[in-house]
Amino acid sequence: MNEEISKIKEILKNELDEARMEHTMGVMYTAAALAMRYNEDLQKALIAGILHDCAKCVPSGAKILLCEKYDIEISDVERQNPGLLHAKLGAAFAKDIYHIEDNDILNAIICHTTGRPVMTLLDKIIYIADYIEPGRKNLPNMKEVRRLAFEDIDHCLYKILRDSLIYLASRNMPVDPMTEQTYLYYKELLNK
Ligand code: FE
Ligand code: FE
Repeated sequence: MNEEISKIKEILKNELDEARMEHTMGVMYTAAALAMRYNEDLQKALIAGILHDCAKCVPSGAKILLCEKYDIEISDVERQNPGLLHAKLGAAFAKDIYHIEDNDILNAIICHTTGRPVMTLLDKIIYIADYIEPGRKNLPNMKEVRRLAFEDIDHCLYKILRDSLIYLASRNMPVDPMTEQTYLYYKELLNK
């Protein structure tokens, strides 16, 4: 592991529980594999991957307070479900605690749970790696999604967005409007 990543991992070990740390390493290496496949900058993929959930284990109340401290806008859905804030707060931590200045990396962390219309290659890599890393439970269509990730990245992204919306609706879980917007954007783009 290169020095920059080792340093981040040392700090992160104290911020995340064991299960989250394991997921994080899975995402980091999956992001690296996708970066190799699609010619993305390997180091950026590793850093975005290892840091994507760096704010995940902050308790809900503290998430709200910290977002206020960092001047992060909190929407109504987010205030009711502070868990959703871990992406934006994660980017703030990445900058403040881990000294990451690269906007491509910060943006990939920000949009890793909801996506956004017109995602960059790095955004897509982190979003997909988060969903398909080997430690993930076998969600519906996982085999197909994992195969597609290395074959047709936009089609893979579309399938994950669609499956996530179906899953959230079936469990009556809150949907961030951005997920819906991203889904509609890629549906249109791919003529689905
Ligand atoms: Fe996350
Ligand atoms: Fe994650």
